[in-house]
Amino acid sequence: MQIHQSTTVQMKEGALVVPNHITVPYIEGDGIGHEITEVALTVLDAAISFAYGKAKSIVWKEVLAGQKAFDRVGTYLPDETLENITASKIAIKGPLATAVGKGMRSLNVALRQQLDLYVCLRPVRYFTGVPSPVKNPQLVDMVVFRENTEDIYAGIEWKSGTEEVRKVITFLSQEMNVKNIRFPKTSAIGIKPVSEDGSKRLIKAAIDYALYHNRSSVTLVHKGNIMKFTEGGFRSWGYELARDDYGATQNVKGVWEISRGTNPPLIIKDCICDAFLQNILVKAADYDVIATLNLNGDYVSDALAAQVGGIGIAPGANINYSTGMAIFEATHGTAPDIAGKNMANPLSMILSGEMLLRYIRWNEAADLLISCIEKTIADGYVTADFYHLMQQDGHEATLLGTREFSQHLVRTMGKPL
Ligand code: NAD
Repeated sequence: MQIHQSTTVQMKEGALVVPNHITVPYIEGDGIGHEITEVALTVLDAAISFAYGKAKSIVWKEVLAGQKAFDRVGTYLPDETLENITASKIAIKGPLATAVGKGMRSLNVALRQQLDLYVCLRPVRYFTGVPSPVKNPQLVDMVVFRENTEDIYAGIEWKSGTEEVRKVITFLSQEMNVKNIRFPKTSAIGIKPVSEDGSKRLIKAAIDYALYHNRSSVTLVHKGNIMKFTEGGFRSWGYELARDDYGATQNVKGVWEISRGTNPPLIIKDCICDAFLQNILVKAADYDVIATLNLNGDYVSDALAAQVGGIGIAPGANINYSTGMAIFEATHGTAPDIAGKNMANPLSMILSGEMLLRYIRWNEAADLLISCIEKTIADGYVTADFYHLMQQDGHEATLLGTREFSQHLVRTMGKPL
């Protein structure tokens, strides 16, 4: 089925144009994907309907990827799927399995690279009642902008013992005068590209987000003390961008800030990644919007997610703010150990949908969804992942399956809060 332009989100003169009735492709996902995607779409429909009646709607159009695609059309990522997502600008996806050792590329990485989704966006906040390993999880309220296309994750590496790695090591030692490859005969080599263009477009997205959402600070998280040109470059380009494109100046204490007229300025600061991982445990309230490189971002977003309840509740999106293209996704995997058992927590998928609603500025539906999730968890209605931890902590809770939890959310939406 071709998607008709008038029902899709478009990008015009740098801004998203969103019709009231839109078609959005979804990838169901492998493993628990089927269970959590189905209920998430139902919950999102309910939020839109309660917020706008018949004035706005989403038609969800399934596009194939993963095992389901392979079983139906013999390929894991059909061209038609990419064409549909490209035409629609936005999509939502469940987790996809990556077969280990079968030479199949990660479908998630393929989607990010082919659509140049350079921002991995992960908001991390606490919902009262969610079991947490830290004393004050409510202090965590951060939005992580992780660079998605560069760094050591670009996949430029050579295996130890191969002809290719020998060539690279010979080039480095003979032509670049590199003396510190400790074991040249048995080394594997990886390359870490970090560019001014790639860093600045990511940091610009973080600053624009912070200004639009009136957040207090943007912290550049890096390891520039050791990797001076790559991670150090990221830090320097960040301050340069803030100064040259946003008019940031240093205040009397030497802190960089972007003026917001009568409102408090947006603070631009930086932190070394290892210190940052300590600080989020001991002074989480000091941080707000985070801009960081690919590998740091991977560690940082999982560490933060653990502080507020773990992967069952961690949403995400991969976005290109220039083209408007965005894929919203649960950040966890396919959870094969609980697949098909109606046990999975659908919140990561539902909250990814909430991010989608906010991205297209359907904020009333997004707000309704958040208040219902807050109430449902505060009332102790949870899935198995939270239930067992709450029991251990001596808190009362009601155990619900994936479907029943989602039905409870929809019922909550229908009642005045
Ligand atoms: P996983 O995230 O699937 O599971 C890790 C643990 O978390 C398991 O115990 C699982 O039961 C639990 N868990 C995950 N999601 C849950 C939820 N919604 N509710 C309750 N519990 C949940 O990680 P894994 O086992 O390492 O990976 C399985 C597969 O998923 C692999 O093929 C991997 O490549 C893939 N994967 C995909 C994505 C993605 O599509 N974005 C991300 C990570 C892993």
